[in-house]
Amino acid sequence: MGVQDDLLTYYADRYQIVAFWSLRTADRKIVLGNKDNRVCRFCGKAEPEVTFRKDAHAFPECIGNKSLFTHYECDTCNHAFGSGCENDFGNWSLPMRTMARIHGKNGIPTIKQGPNSVYRIDGHPDGLSTNIDETEGFIENDKSARILKFHLRRGPYRPAMVAKAMTKMALSIMPEEELPNFQLALDWIRPGSASEMTVAQMPCLYTFIGGPVANDLITIAVLTRQHEGLAVPYSFLLLRYGHEMLQMILPSIERDIHLYGKRLDVCHFPCFQDDGGTVMRPVKRNLLAFDSAEVIKNDIFVLEFSYQQKIRH
Ligand SMILES: [Zn+2]
Repeated sequence: MGVQDDLLTYYADRYQIVAFWSLRTADRKIVLGNKDNRVCRFCGKAEPEVTFRKDAHAFPECIGNKSLFTHYECDTCNHAFGSGCENDFGNWSLPMRTMARIHGKNGIPTIKQGPNSVYRIDGHPDGLSTNIDETEGFIENDKSARILKFHLRRGPYRPAMVAKAMTKMALSIMPEEELPNFQLALDWIRPGSASEMTVAQMPCLYTFIGGPVANDLITIAVLTRQHEGLAVPYSFLLLRYGHEMLQMILPSIERDIHLYGKRLDVCHFPCFQDDGGTVMRPVKRNLLAFDSAEVIKNDIFVLEFSYQQKIRH
């Protein structure tokens, strides 16, 4: 058995999938929930106290979601999430969405850096175009190794808000009967909430997938623990789009309080493949800390591309 099979067995022995979607940008529109009895899952309010006129994306359009919506997010919460935690998530994820050529609300986002945004990377249906300068540190060319290193800057973001955005995605696709296990998490993500619950000191497991990737495919799932005898976190969100897969432990104090303070071993879930098959791609794994509430500015990460021959114009 390969490592991938070992990991699958690890999760199959401990978890069940309670929500799973694999969506293409062009898929038909699906709306979750009851259209005739609309109650907001996030604030608990119903018509006529709140309205439900806007399309409520189950997870943000910026990662290419143009098909999965819900009937149970009111316009007030929709607006507050959009200008709050989902904005932080959008800023954090922006450079990689460009590099993967993912179409958001206004097409593929442009990366602009340097004085007067002079360095740009624009996405097009067939690739990327760049206007960059090696001398300014935006790009590094390691000629001997034939590697181009892009120094990409994320937009300003608050890590804890990125975690809230991912928790909100999970709670949007969560089956109704699971919600009692996430009441404190719902309180934590509620716009304007005074809840200071931190994401238990558990990092987000991050996988970077190299090589060509689909730019119109999102795979998202929620797993829950099979039984209380297992010393593993109750629930995970798995989210794959473009070159990235994020795996976050969902805060369920209700189900995990007995584990607090104990050492837990957590391993990366096997990466969802573009074709649903077993073709393995080169991956890099990492841990991300999304617990700080401070604004992070000028967060640069380095993206490497190997090349055979540099083409000069
Ligand atoms: Zn609401």
